[in-house]
Amino acid sequence: MLPHENNPNKKTKLSHSDGEELVHLWNHCFNCGSAPILGLRYECTSCPAGPDNDLCEKCYEKFQKGEIQHPREDTPAAAMDIKTHHFNPVQGKPARLYEKWLQIPLPAVPAPQVPDHFVVRPIFCSGPDAAIGGYAFLVAAAGHHSPLLLTALHVMDEMIKKKGFDCTDNNKNYTGREMPGAISEVQFYDVFAANWMMAPLGTAAPMLVLPNARRGDEEPCSHRDIAAFFVKNPGALNPAPLAQKTPGVGEPVWLAAKLPGEATIRTQAAVVVEKTGRTFVFRFEAMESERPKYTSGAPVLDKKGEVVGINVGGGFFRGQRLGHANHVENIRSHLSSC
Ligand SMILES: [Zn+2]
Ligand SMILES: [Zn+2]
Repeated sequence: MLPHENNPNKKTKLSHSDGEELVHLWNHCFNCGSAPILGLRYECTSCPAGPDNDLCEKCYEKFQKGEIQHPREDTPAAAMDIKTHHFNPVQGKPARLYEKWLQIPLPAVPAPQVPDHFVVRPIFCSGPDAAIGGYAFLVAAAGHHSPLLLTALHVMDEMIKKKGFDCTDNNKNYTGREMPGAISEVQFYDVFAANWMMAPLGTAAPMLVLPNARRGDEEPCSHRDIAAFFVKNPGALNPAPLAQKTPGVGEPVWLAAKLPGEATIRTQAAVVVEKTGRTFVFRFEAMESERPKYTSGAPVLDKKGEVVGINVGGGFFRGQRLGHANHVENIRSHLSSC
């Protein structure tokens, strides 16, 4: 067990509001598995962003008594030798805000084809240091001669923390040049191969300077969660176009990722339930048992197979599975800012 303490900067008294059901839609408790977390949530801000950082109130009490191991042995955080784990208490949001997301029907539309050599698994390299990320994908973006490799910025969080950068809003001096200066190369692999580590597809560098990209916004605000790289050797790759427009509420979208145990099906259908300047939320047809894991950075597609978002997070509400993404209007605005 590693030593731990609360962040002294965050001692605000958090109270349960009267009789209202408060939920953390986008978080599950890594110890007891409750999803969503109800009431207070305790989030470790020392570990890289990921699904193993949140505890419900009851499990946090157990953690304080030394009854729960954190980080778990099989997580990237365990290998990082983090001396102190700061857990911040966070209050939930009223469940009534999300009821409307369950009412929107999913249209029956055939899934788009996901070609080979488009969806990839990235390894971020900084000199001798390397960190595996979730997903990334290749796009043909207007104004750029070579394809770009896109992912969510928080997918790089292990490397961000190794380098000691703060890419959140807390750092008012952040310019977007910090990580591009540190990343020597991204190696990317075929995520659909039987053994992805044996299926290298290419390399990308340098990282684009995106001055408005940030990690750590409160979910489901994903409008700033983006990282992009120039692809060095685009020969055998299949970059997809960026869609003209993000689909609206009630329209279908698909997450493209490797499904558990499936070699041939590459998409999971969802319906858009909310779209604003800051977020893009969708509800899946498939349930927990079919959920592909660690899909941050995977592409979200429209019915033509064009990219409408970068997958950023997922959660559960009343047994239904939800996801949120950084949508294409935001992607375009980031890419035109550099
Ligand atoms: Zn728990
Ligand atoms: Zn931690």
